[in-house]
Amino acid sequence: MNDADVVVVGSGPAGSTTACFAAKTGAKVLIIDRRAEVGIPVLCGEGISRKIDDFRLFESTRWIANRVDGARIYSPDGTMVKLSAEQAGNETGYVIHRDIFDKELAASAIRAGAKIMLNTEATGLLRENGKIKGVIAKQFEEKIEIKADIVVGADGVESRVGRWADINTRLKPHDLETCAQYTLANVEVTKEYCDFYLGNSIAPGGYIWIFPKEKDIANVGIGILASRSKPGMALRLLNRFINSHPELKKGEPLRLLAGAVPVAQPIETTRDNLILVGDAARHADPITGGGLTTAIQGGKIAGETIAQAIQQQRFDKETLSEYENRWKETFGKKLRRNYVVKETVLNFDDKTLNLLAGSLKNYKFEEFSTLGLIKALVTKHPTLLMKLKPLIKISTT
Ligand SMILES: Cc1cc2nc3c(=O)[nH]c(=O)nc-3n(C[C@H](O)[C@H](O)[C@H](O)COP(=O)(O)OP(=O)(O)OC[C@H]3O[C@@H](n4cnc5c(N)ncnc54)[C@H](O)[C@@H]3O)c2cc1C
Repeated sequence: MNDADVVVVGSGPAGSTTACFAAKTGAKVLIIDRRAEVGIPVLCGEGISRKIDDFRLFESTRWIANRVDGARIYSPDGTMVKLSAEQAGNETGYVIHRDIFDKELAASAIRAGAKIMLNTEATGLLRENGKIKGVIAKQFEEKIEIKADIVVGADGVESRVGRWADINTRLKPHDLETCAQYTLANVEVTKEYCDFYLGNSIAPGGYIWIFPKEKDIANVGIGILASRSKPGMALRLLNRFINSHPELKKGEPLRLLAGAVPVAQPIETTRDNLILVGDAARHADPITGGGLTTAIQGGKIAGETIAQAIQQQRFDKETLSEYENRWKETFGKKLRRNYVVKETVLNFDDKTLNLLAGSLKNYKFEEFSTLGLIKALVTKHPTLLMKLKPLIKISTT
């Protein structure tokens, strides 16, 4: 039997950040992870916004592989729209070494006083008279019970902690991106930009990305909507794309990975004695699938809420819902808005995507506002009005 104030299931960015902020005020925090090594295997495109600097979580910059100036978005006919890093969203600013990034975050939590157990998989919740009292886990087939006042589900896209607490965590195929990615060496890429390729035959319901890590090394990946996918399709489409680009075709893989990202609406995130953070809370951006920034933003709020709850010795849903109120205020609205954008853009055929890119390629993005953008588009192409209607509604609320 191991005792703690808080047990965090998952040592990803959401779990480590939560643990760090909870431990800072003296709470006894234990992180468990089924992995043998923090951050390994890497399942990520490794793009992140520079907003990450605001959190001052890192003691070194070893996790930064490359700094990029912005994003280039290509429509199916090859029209390119350029955005600065600030305008480009959650995945553009730095290309990182995700394994080092996760280790640095876990190290910050450990320095703040958190403990960590690896090769330790949560298998259920520990309950006493129906109340959550910790987790049941196994380490090398040995069953262990970890008693804690608060359980944090930071167990990623496949989260089971939420389900064990009767939270509906079910992801419809329409709300899940199936991904595949190579890290290719000996490619010719522009180090200053992250590139995104859109198109219904290129990546149905998703996109292909090229994130440059070094002058001749890049992550080249694809995400397609699970409801529009068939077994093996993501990798097949990615291979086709690479083979049709000579500057990528000459590359050889250093890494090949497959994974999934939630592109869903956020769900309930608190129960008595329990909090969900990061991908487990469906906090990834529904447009891009980028979830690192919100995992950290949400983790900080969760850690601060937990620290307060421990001071007050109150662990009920009402006390913990401070976390839910704060993440809704900080990034919840944006996630909901971006879900509507995702739903709208999913209905666009390639012709509409080309039309949009054609209208936007010379748009002055310094004056960026969703409504301003829509007005400019509709003035140029009145036929777009019906297609963009859902976006007009959300940009005025
Ligand atoms: C192919 C791909 C590319 C992506 N690219 C980007 C990108 O470029 N930029 C970006 O911002 N986001 C990207 N994402 C999304 C990003 O990786 C996630 O949003 C982010 O990892 C969420 O962090 P997290 O801490 O919530 O979960 P995770 O990082 O998934 O961490 C969850 C942890 O929980 C552990 N765990 C799970 N179940 C248990 C259990 N039962 N017991 C113990 N431990 C458990 C896991 O081992 C893991 O360590 C990508 C995702 C994929 C799949």
